[in-house]
Amino acid sequence: MPELPEVEVVRLGLAQAVASSRVVAAEVRDPRAVKRHVAGAADFEARIVGVELLEPARRGKFLWIPTGGGAEALLAHLGMSGQLLLRTHEAPEDRHVRVRLWLETAHHGELRLDFADQRLFGSLALDSMSDGVPRQAAHIARDPLDPLFDDEAFLRALRTRSAAVKKLLLDQNLISGVGNIYADEALWLARVHPETPGCEVSAIKARRLLEAVRSVFLKALAEGGTSFDRLYVNVNGESGYFAHSLNAYGRGGEPCPRCGTPIRRISFMNRSSHFCPRCQRR
Ligand SMILES: [Zn+2]
Repeated sequence: MPELPEVEVVRLGLAQAVASSRVVAAEVRDPRAVKRHVAGAADFEARIVGVELLEPARRGKFLWIPTGGGAEALLAHLGMSGQLLLRTHEAPEDRHVRVRLWLETAHHGELRLDFADQRLFGSLALDSMSDGVPRQAAHIARDPLDPLFDDEAFLRALRTRSAAVKKLLLDQNLISGVGNIYADEALWLARVHPETPGCEVSAIKARRLLEAVRSVFLKALAEGGTSFDRLYVNVNGESGYFAHSLNAYGRGGEPCPRCGTPIRRISFMNRSSHFCPRCQRR
């Protein structure tokens, strides 16, 4: 499942090629891949052709490209396995391409922008903008790398709830962009047990946790790079895009890099949590 660093890497890569391009043709191969476009596949195809694409933006797992004039945006929700793939004219076919847009770009000639999605939880849409955000993404909280993210409001919300702190980190209405992988990493870095109720996290630890979220995001972004080539890498955090640098996630049974105690894996919301039982005590 893509988390903030993966979505941001895609956004940066797209920005270099897509900004100021024009959609010259569109092909919806599977109407389920535009289910968020309520007027349907034919309407999507008809309306996207001819539009100018501007600088891409993101919030949580939503990524969007405002169109000429800025009143609308081409919106992508990446779901579990959605990918936006930028390909040259003659590049071989990828698997699971559901929507193809042909772009005339300023610096890279004609490119294909393919929306590939194996499991079809993702979707494209043309959506109207409200206050700089597509309507479908309006309910998603800002992410902690957003300059307008409100630290105090988040810390207050975290420390007044009885839900497990990890569940609160995954709540897209409180903070966006954090999924299972970076939640485990941030909790490990801040030495907080994932099942600690939010209201039992001290003010100092809560602040340390928010800093840890930012720190793991920035580290992943630095390793992900921002080159055009990166778009050719699959955007799928679960398969370990940044796995080489993880301290806790996916390392059950391996020694904690800080103290050597074996990392413990427990089940959590139909998935799993990884933590150090020594460094992260309740
Ligand atoms: Zn440890």
